[in-house]
Amino acid sequence: MAATPPPIETEALIIGAGPAGLFLAFQLGLQEIGCHLVDVLPEPGGQCAALYPDKPIYDLPGLPVCSGRELTERLLQQLRPFNPPLHLGQLVSSVQRQPDGRWLVRSNGQNNGPNNIQAWLAPTVFIAAGVGAFVPRKEALPELEPFEHSAPVQVCYHGRPTKAALATARHVVVYGGDAAAVELALQRKLLPVDSATMASAEPGLYAVGDINHYPGKRKLIVCAFHEATLAAFAAAAQLRPGQRQLLQYTTTSPRLQQLLGVGG
Ligand SMILES: Cc1cc2nc3c(=O)[nH]c(=O)nc-3n(C[C@H](O)[C@H](O)[C@H](O)COP(=O)(O)OP(=O)(O)OC[C@H]3O[C@@H](n4cnc5c(N)ncnc54)[C@H](O)[C@@H]3O)c2cc1C
Repeated sequence: MAATPPPIETEALIIGAGPAGLFLAFQLGLQEIGCHLVDVLPEPGGQCAALYPDKPIYDLPGLPVCSGRELTERLLQQLRPFNPPLHLGQLVSSVQRQPDGRWLVRSNGQNNGPNNIQAWLAPTVFIAAGVGAFVPRKEALPELEPFEHSAPVQVCYHGRPTKAALATARHVVVYGGDAAAVELALQRKLLPVDSATMASAEPGLYAVGDINHYPGKRKLIVCAFHEATLAAFAAAAQLRPGQRQLLQYTTTSPRLQQLLGVGG
């Protein structure tokens, strides 16, 4: 068995690269908090990318109509100035508090064999895991297993071949249709949070998006964006105690524009 590599140290770790996780990474960037993102899926976007990439969304502020795929692309574009490392194909399996108060997060790689384990050590962890991990449902054909991670023939258990699969394989076999090939592991576990900060009862552990719960919670993308913004402010207060928190506008703040690489 391969040895577990030393944990990656980071100020913040986001579990889940759906719309909540992606926008949270942007908001953390505005707070000058470095983060890593981890997701079990081979591509970011969560439900929008995996379940309804081509379906229209009509209730995003300022975007009268936008598909799930387009929203994901726009979120990634917005996030680009901060360029946070994105660890895909990693199923987070444990989150443990360490004696120094930080959190040790471990994941198991889904794509490159069972020994592809990763770990992170962070004072703040954000659970943006939506309705849970999307676990591919496999066809019970052992003869197909050797082709799962190999080119030129590659077997995919997702609704559509990934960009990586298309880039490396000469023939791509897709089993099932969009929804049929993907089983949603609905764990239905909601994490109660303080609606002012998205902090859970555990210090340093936050939850945003569909996974959290507070009075009046609505599982909508616009609510996830609001929660991500509040969580980033709360994390900044936790990580930089005593530092005055200024509310600055991206429109007018030279500091924020410098972070974004825009403006004069
Ligand atoms: C068909 C459909 C249509 C919708 N239309 C609308 C709409 O019009 N407007 C609207 O506002 N909302 C809509 N929604 C709801 C919206 O998609 C969700 O509210 C939104 O996706 C929640 O974002 P999230 O980031 O919290 O979670 P998700 O999008 O679920 O993302 C969570 C991510 O976490 C990852 N993850 C989970 N567990 C783990 C783990 N253990 N390890 C690693 N990664 C993990 C998952 O793989 C996933 O990528 C729709 C939903 C569906 C299904």
